Amino acid sequence: MFIDKIQIFVKAGAGGNGAVSFRREKYVAKGGPDGGDGGNGGNIIFVVDEGINTLLSFRYKRKFIAEPGGNGEGAKRHGKNGADVTIKVPRGTIIRNAESGKIIKDMSDDEPFVVCKGGRGGWGNKHFATPTRQIPRFAKNGLPGEEKEIVLELKMIADVGLVGLPSAGKSSLLAAVSQARPKVAEYHFTTLEPSLGVVNTGEDRGFVMADIPGLIEGAAEGAGLGHDFLRHIERCRLLLQVVDISGMEGRAPTEDFDTISQELEEFSPELAERPRIIAANKCDLIIEEEDENLKSLKTLADALGYKVFPISTATRQGIPELLREIESMLRELPPITVYESEIEEESADTFEESRPEDTVITRDSEGAYVCTGKWLEKLCGRINFSDRESLMYFQKSLNDGGIIDMLRAAGCVEDDTVKMFDIEFDFVD
Ligand code: GDP
Ligand code: MG
Repeated sequence: MFIDKIQIFVKAGAGGNGAVSFRREKYVAKGGPDGGDGGNGGNIIFVVDEGINTLLSFRYKRKFIAEPGGNGEGAKRHGKNGADVTIKVPRGTIIRNAESGKIIKDMSDDEPFVVCKGGRGGWGNKHFATPTRQIPRFAKNGLPGEEKEIVLELKMIADVGLVGLPSAGKSSLLAAVSQARPKVAEYHFTTLEPSLGVVNTGEDRGFVMADIPGLIEGAAEGAGLGHDFLRHIERCRLLLQVVDISGMEGRAPTEDFDTISQELEEFSPELAERPRIIAANKCDLIIEEEDENLKSLKTLADALGYKVFPISTATRQGIPELLREIESMLRELPPITVYESEIEEESADTFEESRPEDTVITRDSEGAYVCTGKWLEKLCGRINFSDRESLMYFQKSLNDGGIIDMLRAAGCVEDDTVKMFDIEFDFVD
């Protein structure tokens, strides 16, 4: 089973609540406030792991939830920060928002990426020991952690992508030019995992070649495996099309060539336009110079502007020439595509950056005034509603933020019901 696209759920930990506590000292009835802050919630972090090349590990585990932060305690003790959850993915994994389909991040470099940030811990009452708050019973709750449904999609990172019908000799070629050991099979074996190999062409020089599962006829319409796998070569800089020139299978190489071209075209016209080289493989089985198959393939390729290299992975003939050409073409070609994030930077979205004026007030079916908005959501998340002082602070924030005025303007009068996220209260004017 090969998995290269999967949806998972990720959730960062919530921040711990701040503590309300007072210092106890001998002979002092009530000391100063000493409630510590809540710890931060754990993050969900993605990292590239070179050792894996499929998303198989996500088959049985599709939920990743980071630890919440611990609550603050007395004596200014800070709550413990929640542990991060680190998720390992193959290089070239694209993280998308499941709902919008937008790209959040292309995991192509070595930088760890925080996909969900843990909630910040709330402040303990030690912060509120100001002269105006003689009895600071006030503390703040931690903020919730971010959560998302995301889709992981693997688009491998390789300079050269091998394409060709099953048994053309793609896996043999990769094995002949690199340390990679893809499965080579006599029958029409469909390789189930793409493999990558590094082709060394000299000191500090080389390129990465990808062998993807064999394309089969009709794959672009969803018959068989081929179609989906084409995504792995979508960002290759150069396609190397391997054609079996021996005619052993009873097929004309020109037909094989056309079949693959059509598959590429149907999957993506852009991919069909990608620079391409033809490797006419299994030359050890033909008398090269006068071979009809080779001649007609060359004529066809010439007309399309592709170069043909007769090779044999068995005898290695033609392989050095082929590699030289690939190298010189790669020197001229643009670098591997790295997809830009399509998500606006959510800039940590702090309380300070959201604005009370953006609050929206609507009426529900029972006539209650329903207030929504980022600023309000964050405010509500920070208030400890079982605490009188906290509620007073809440009241004051609603007043200062203009929410009370907005409610009045919306027609809200004494005793009307007001709803703000998970809170409900009667309006008192
Ligand atoms: P793939 O399906 O395109 O990956 O093809 P494989 O690399 O698995 O090869 C299919 C079969 O062709 C295997 O039996 C190989 O040994 C054979 N083969 C590959 N290259 C050559 C070659 O240059 N000469 C000969 N005679 N056989 C080859
Ligand atoms: Mg193969």
